[in-house]
Amino acid sequence: MVERTLSIVKPDAVKAGHTGDIISMFERAGLKVAALKMLHLTPDEAKGFYIVHKERPFYGDLTKFMSEGPIVVLVLEGEDAIKMVRDIMGATNPKNAAPGTIRALFAADIERNAVHGSDSEKSAAYEIPFFFPSIEIMGL
Ligand code: UDP
Ligand code: MG
Repeated sequence: MVERTLSIVKPDAVKAGHTGDIISMFERAGLKVAALKMLHLTPDEAKGFYIVHKERPFYGDLTKFMSEGPIVVLVLEGEDAIKMVRDIMGATNPKNAAPGTIRALFAADIERNAVHGSDSEKSAAYEIPFFFPSIEIMGL
């Protein structure tokens, strides 16, 4: 099924200059960029994005990290895009990330792990409109 998913190049990877490499990895896998922008979240905006994790012990540190600097957010579209992006990202903890994945290449640790990708259709349906009104998403 053709799907759309939300991905984020996180502040650590933007700062380190990996934005282009990460987007290239998605494009080389056949995914299409349907929307793209750079922005700097406030702590409250980061809390809203990660609201599903609000009871987790890492919520405070995570939302602080996600608001420490600019991020690049993108909508990716393609056949099985949600799973494809998750596969290209690699495991949350880079110690467990398969060789050649974004997190194996660029993540420092389980928190500062370079990239986000929606984990399900339900997550994508919350996360895409969090950042993009429909007029900013290209029909491909
Ligand atoms: N995270 C963390 N500590 C943990 C688990 C997650 O700091 O023990 C951070 C990490 O940046 C991760 C994000 O919280 O990417 C969201 O966690 P999730 O379990 O949804 O991982 P993901 O879907 O990003 O692989
Ligand atoms: Mg997740």
